[in-house]
Amino acid sequence: MPDLTRPEVSGPEADPAWPDAGRPGADGGPFGAGLRVLILGGTSEGRELAAACAGVAGLHVTSSLAGRTSAPLRPVGELRVGGFGGVDGLISYLRSERIGAVVDATHPFAATMSAHAVAASARAGVPLLVLRRTGFVARPGDDWHRVPTVAAAAELVPALGQRVFLTTGRQSIAAFAGVGGCWFLSRSVEPPQPPVPPRLEVVLDRGPFTVEGERALLDRYRIDVLVTKDSGGAAPKLDAARERGIPVVMIDRPSPTAEPGAPASGAAPPVEIVATIPAVLAWLTARGATDRS
Ligand code: NAP
Repeated sequence: MPDLTRPEVSGPEADPAWPDAGRPGADGGPFGAGLRVLILGGTSEGRELAAACAGVAGLHVTSSLAGRTSAPLRPVGELRVGGFGGVDGLISYLRSERIGAVVDATHPFAATMSAHAVAASARAGVPLLVLRRTGFVARPGDDWHRVPTVAAAAELVPALGQRVFLTTGRQSIAAFAGVGGCWFLSRSVEPPQPPVPPRLEVVLDRGPFTVEGERALLDRYRIDVLVTKDSGGAAPKLDAARERGIPVVMIDRPSPTAEPGAPASGAAPPVEIVATIPAVLAWLTARGATDRS
C-alpha cells in the first residue's frame, strides 16, 4: 500500500482509469478503478486536502466552493463553484458525478452546508467524513467571554469596551449595526454590505497574519475589545490581545445541525469527524478497500 501521507508527483489527471472512477472493481492500489471524492471547501484545510489528494493515484477529487468571494484562493485540481440547490441538489450532484466519498472541509461556522452534507450523503448512501480543526484553547492571561451567537456578541460588546475589532467575517457585521456607543474596526476579504454600524472603519485583508502585525493594528486603532468566532487554527490576534490585556468576545461554534428544519442532533446520522489530513487520507483508503470488497 502506498504511503498516502506522501503524495506522489503524478496527479490523478494522468490516471487513465478516470472513466470508471467511483465504481468498485479493478485491481491495483487501494482505490481499484478509482474513487471520486467531493471536498466541500472554502478553508485552508480544504485546499491542503485537495493538494494532498492530488498526488494519490486512483483518487479523483473535485473541490466545491460556495462562490462568496470574487477572487477565491483556488485549490489544486478540479473545482466547481456555487451552491448545489439544497439537499436535493446535492443528492443529484452526488449521483450524477458518481461521487464515492464526501469530505466536509467547510469552515466550522458553515453550519447549513454541513447539515446538508449529512442529510444528502445519508440519503444518497455516500460515506461522509468531516475534517474540522479543533477550536481555540484559552491560555493563562486570556480574558475570554464566550457567547453562543453573533447576536449575543453584539449585546455584550458595549459592556466590555468602546473600540471594537470585529474579525467575524463580513456577513456578521450587520449584527453590530444597531450597537450604540461603540466605534468598530472590521477586517474581511471583501467589503461588508449594509446594514453596518455608523462608526465603522473597514480593513480589507486576507491572512495569514502575524503577532507583530496584529499587535500594531490593536495599538494603531486603540482597540479595547476583540470579537472572534471560535474558528480554531492559528490566531495571532489572540496572542496580541492576551499581550495587551484586551478582552475577547468568543463566539461558540454552531451545532453541526444548527439549521431550521435540520434533524435534532439525536436523530441525525452519526458522522465521523477528524482533525488532520493524514486521518482523511486513511479514511479514504478504507473507503477504497470497501469499494473493492
Ligand atoms: P452556509 O451558511 O453553511 O451555507 C449556505 C449555502 O451556501 C449552502 O446551503 C450551500 O448552498 C452554499 N455553500 C456553502 N458552502 C458551500 C460549498 N463549499 N460548496 C458549495 N456550496 C456551498 O455557508 P457559509 O457560512 O456562508 O460559508 C460559505 C463558504 O465560506 C463555505 O465554503 C465555508 O467553508 C467558507 N467560509 C465560511 C466562514 C464562516 O465564518 N461561515 C469562514 C470562512 C470560510 P446550497 O444549499 O444551494 O447547496
